Amino acid sequence: MKRWFFIVLIVCMAVSFSGCGKKEFQKSVIQNDMDMLEVNDIGVSDEDTQPYWGTYVHTFAKAEGGYYYIGDWNTASFLLFFDEETQESYPVCGKADCNHADDGCNAYVGMEYSKGNNMATFYLNSAVYYYKENLYLLDSMGYLVRFSPDGSQRERIALVSSLLEESGTNLVFHDDYVYVYSLLGHLGGEEEATETIKRYSLKDKSEEVVVEYTGKGAAISAAKSYGDRLYFLIRTATVERDEEKETVIVNESYNGLYAYEYQTGKAGKVLDANITDYCINEETGDIYYYQYNDGLYNYNVKTKETKKLLDADESTRVAEISFDGEYIYVDNRFWVSTAKRNSQLYYDTFCSVVSPDGTLINTIDCTGESFAFFGDEQYMFTEIFAQNEGRDTKIGFSGLGYIKKEDIKSGAECVWKKLEHE
Ligand SMILES: [Zn+2]
Repeated sequence: MKRWFFIVLIVCMAVSFSGCGKKEFQKSVIQNDMDMLEVNDIGVSDEDTQPYWGTYVHTFAKAEGGYYYIGDWNTASFLLFFDEETQESYPVCGKADCNHADDGCNAYVGMEYSKGNNMATFYLNSAVYYYKENLYLLDSMGYLVRFSPDGSQRERIALVSSLLEESGTNLVFHDDYVYVYSLLGHLGGEEEATETIKRYSLKDKSEEVVVEYTGKGAAISAAKSYGDRLYFLIRTATVERDEEKETVIVNESYNGLYAYEYQTGKAGKVLDANITDYCINEETGDIYYYQYNDGLYNYNVKTKETKKLLDADESTRVAEISFDGEYIYVDNRFWVSTAKRNSQLYYDTFCSVVSPDGTLINTIDCTGESFAFFGDEQYMFTEIFAQNEGRDTKIGFSGLGYIKKEDIKSGAECVWKKLEHE
């Protein structure tokens, strides 16, 4: 399965990614020396920037009335829409008399096929974005493609990835630009290399580098747009190989939270801590961040005060986090995958729902190893692997699932429901 393959890539951080061939691009317009950047006010986002989604995979995108995603329909991949009122999904196709079964359908986005060990889709099934009434997908040639909301028109915007295979290419939309970076970067690389955030104009398709960082085994990750800035993390990973045992140990570090100011073009470090993920309440100026092997903190940009909200334990050394306007969601799946591969340690996978004052509201069983998709104030989504190596699972299906956020607030046990689209 494609998405599964991608997970293995990120967790193992194969050394072969150290030569990702980005040399054809010109030097950055900003010399980013990563000085501390003072943030006193977050500013207010355009609603469409959707920073609440997880950043490893962007499987869902919010639009008016529901959510877009790619799913299997009649044994091929189709662009589907989950209706937030009815909880039903249907192909994004307005053609009269179309039975949504072949490439004549407006919602058709490609068949997944297997040739030897090579899997490919015409569009990458882990990336759907919605911005200013258009959809954006990445095709398997590395192009960013703009779709009209009914699927009837498709336009290539720019070549944003140089790899034919899934490359960890991630997108953030703001103003009239799409910001693009690779979350695999040069993780595991043994030589100094340059990581970049590039932006492409959605109007004239022009391209420029806005952030550049040079280091060994590094990658830019978890870029999210809040208010007046694009925030991101810098991770590094060095690889130790034991040729005899054929094992690979990955030493990871998290270098801090950084930001790029849209208005001034300045970039710098905002928080100096081993941050595995973060999310922001724009209204209050609270930056929630998860410190490696330590826990969840709240730093307020106005008062400059830091408070601890939650302690980490062995099962939650690393967390992905998200803020939906009311609660903070703390998900340990990425850490569980890493611990299992590196140390054969097994932990339960779950998502803690925490109020901004640190009160635990609920704990959601997140069976199976994947990445957190999270969600907005109405729904959260996940991918479930029910047959997960004999683990006792309460959930009887594999595929994509959802939970209505109002079910979480009562504190009662939450059960994922399957997205019905077949
Ligand atoms: Zn159709």
